[in-house]
Amino acid sequence: MSQTPDSAVRTYIEQHRSAFLDDLAEWLRIPSVSAQPDHAPDVRRSADWLAAKLLETGFTTAEVWPTDGAPAVFAEWPSDDPDAPTVLVYGHHDVQPAAREDGWHSEPFEPEIRDGRLYARGAADDKGQVLFHTLGVRAHLAATGRTAPAVHLKLLIEGEEESGSPHFRALVESRADRLAADAVVVSDTGMWSEDTPTVCTGMRGLAECEIHFRGPDQDIHSGSFGGAVPNPATAAARLVAALHDEHARVAVPGFYDGVVELTDRERALFAELPFDEERWLRTAKSHATSGEAGYTTLERVWARPTAEVNGIGGGYQGAGSKTIIPASAMVKLTFRLVAGQDPDRIEKAVRAWVDEQVPDGIRHETVFGGATRPCLTPLDHPALQSVVRAMGRAFGVPVRFTREGGSGPAADLQEVLGVPVLFLGISVPSDGWHAPNEKVELDLLFKGVETSAYLWGDLAEHWREAP
Ligand SMILES: [Zn+2]
Repeated sequence: MSQTPDSAVRTYIEQHRSAFLDDLAEWLRIPSVSAQPDHAPDVRRSADWLAAKLLETGFTTAEVWPTDGAPAVFAEWPSDDPDAPTVLVYGHHDVQPAAREDGWHSEPFEPEIRDGRLYARGAADDKGQVLFHTLGVRAHLAATGRTAPAVHLKLLIEGEEESGSPHFRALVESRADRLAADAVVVSDTGMWSEDTPTVCTGMRGLAECEIHFRGPDQDIHSGSFGGAVPNPATAAARLVAALHDEHARVAVPGFYDGVVELTDRERALFAELPFDEERWLRTAKSHATSGEAGYTTLERVWARPTAEVNGIGGGYQGAGSKTIIPASAMVKLTFRLVAGQDPDRIEKAVRAWVDEQVPDGIRHETVFGGATRPCLTPLDHPALQSVVRAMGRAFGVPVRFTREGGSGPAADLQEVLGVPVLFLGISVPSDGWHAPNEKVELDLLFKGVETSAYLWGDLAEHWREAP
């Protein structure tokens, strides 16, 4: 009896399910905590383990790439079709710290399956979601009778994501020739919920700055001098108060220049998601929603740029009163950016606005830190459509769309390699990323394997529809 491709994929996955889980458990037992220096040998061991596993899977090349911090793993499996597109899968093999006494019900580095869930640090973020591609590509070959994938497949699995990827950009720049691809697939994200599979289409970027205000050369008596000299704390407060207008729009001139607006279709698709604002507020631990006029909560966090005051300080903060005009004050600001905004242009606009706002007699300095660019893949991009179709075949229900309000190293890949970034993740909000009792839902993990198995054939077939 002949099998349809989907049932062949499912049969193959079923036959290799327990061996795959054994492999994943072995990897999860390596405590590859990048933040803790005493775990540096474990992070290296994790990279070696993965490189060996990828060779065993069939990748023709698997190398451990050193950085000035923890090593990354690069692997390659060329297609037998020289004209096939090249896809680079991104993930990470390091994990957040974890200790039993943080509230874990089992040892964080001793994986345990309970009620259809695999509990361990890294189960969902990100080892489970990296490893599903190994069984996925094998199932793709088994079901299609191919000996090499339908696309030129590359993997870059970094070892410092949980430490803020300090060397990632330099790594990507120095290895850009080996990493060259037509699209990037990021498997380090999640979906809306267990019953609502979603594809994320973009991430916001980030720009950050500190503004230092200096008034008198030292704290001075507010009786002897108050009312006759400028106060740096007042200047800081006025600047913060001027940051947004009465519609909660960012008041920095030029801030919205070039912003890619939501289309009516995207707004309609967001509105279809089963969003419960009360529940969202409980998760947010906030007592109210507020934000830019004319946008819903999801639109505000996913698709609109923002300015937030992360810290403000200056002057006396001890008990009782101290009658001074403080010598200095400071403000920390971050800006979440969306497609069309450029961090360098934002920096210029903010600097000019600050210069304008600060009154005479207050000296000020604006210091910008590193920035992350936003990324966005249009809904009708053929590679995005391939991810949606592959996920739809695996899940058997319609796939919806989300975006991510946070920012990540995927933007470096988009920028340096100059290619679209696609997100394929099967984790759900209850998976407990960075928290005690992190887990991955086994059903979803294998849907991830299945999606990966369908994706490469679909991409190769539809890639040339690209404009
Ligand atoms: Zn992650």
